[in-house]
Amino acid sequence: MSQSSPRIFVAYAGGTIGMRETDDGYAPAPGYLQRRMAELPPFQAADVPTYDVYELAPLLDSSNMAPADWLRIAELIRDHHADYDGFLVVHGTDTMAFTASALSFMLQPLDKPVVLTGSQLPLAATRTDAQSNLLTSLLLLGQYADRLAGVHLFFNDRLYRGNRTTKVNADAFAAFDSPNFPPVGTAGINLDVDWDRVPTPERPARPPDVTALGGATVSAFRLFPGLEAEYLENVLAPPVQGVVLECFGSGNAPSSNEQFLAALRRATERGVVVVAVTQPLRGTADLDLYATGHALAEAGVVSGYDMTTEAALAKLYYLFEQGHPPAEVRALTQQNLRGELTPPEDVPPSLGRARRRLAGYR
Ligand code: ASP
Repeated sequence: MSQSSPRIFVAYAGGTIGMRETDDGYAPAPGYLQRRMAELPPFQAADVPTYDVYELAPLLDSSNMAPADWLRIAELIRDHHADYDGFLVVHGTDTMAFTASALSFMLQPLDKPVVLTGSQLPLAATRTDAQSNLLTSLLLLGQYADRLAGVHLFFNDRLYRGNRTTKVNADAFAAFDSPNFPPVGTAGINLDVDWDRVPTPERPARPPDVTALGGATVSAFRLFPGLEAEYLENVLAPPVQGVVLECFGSGNAPSSNEQFLAALRRATERGVVVVAVTQPLRGTADLDLYATGHALAEAGVVSGYDMTTEAALAKLYYLFEQGHPPAEVRALTQQNLRGELTPPEDVPPSLGRARRRLAGYR
């Protein structure tokens, strides 16, 4: 951090947080969030770090965001990296976990903190969560700009590792969870960070390189009972390069359905990378655990372990973007690159399955 007080760059991408009520429902309104922040006394408090808001145009409901929007955010962070100590991305909640996962792969190295936040109700609403999410994110960034690095998501008093998050509630203020990795910080009376669970920044901070995502054709698909093999063939058809397969339980699929397995085998032999993750919120897709999972592994599917779908998708985009051939993408998908998964070797085999999951909490 610079000797003077920390300066925070705010990239305002859109979302409910800065929306106004219109005849058609809530809609983003340019300049509105900044005006509200300038009017509200808590944002003028002495301990709130200096911040500059850069508003992306157009402001987006995050359901409309695509990899090109991730790139604009990543480039803003890179271009302002030298002049600021921390970065706050103000974002809609619907796809915030996707953007957090993507940024964690796109920006490397990342020796300054990036925090994403948003809210369930607009800053203008009386009973809003926007004020505390925004203020606490700014205070965290100001207070810990010199110690925190990497991409995080702050919501409802919890700081999470960005690429471990998923949106779990469309109504509650506790909209996010990090099912397979504990929060890395808590905002109670104090702003506590678990320093063992966040990356240590190098000093002087090196400027990040940006990898654009979105060039590869990847998708995500959820298994369901009764799925026809023909339908799966369509999901795996060219030009698809990678698929995140949301499997049952610990990475299980209908292994007695030979046509289903054959469709997968044909695709993986063509070079399609299929990564198994779990449909349950918590746990790991480990294809070695059950015969039904093993059949998937034999069809060329790889374990995504405890990655969220959001992280697995971003990782596939990223690995194909690096120009890796499918065999390398397969191998790298199963490795921990940015803290997005708990590798099985970190979990002592002597522990039972449930305990193995807990042991992965590092
Ligand atoms: N639809 C909004 C968005 O994701 C929801 C929100 O911000 O909470 O942009």
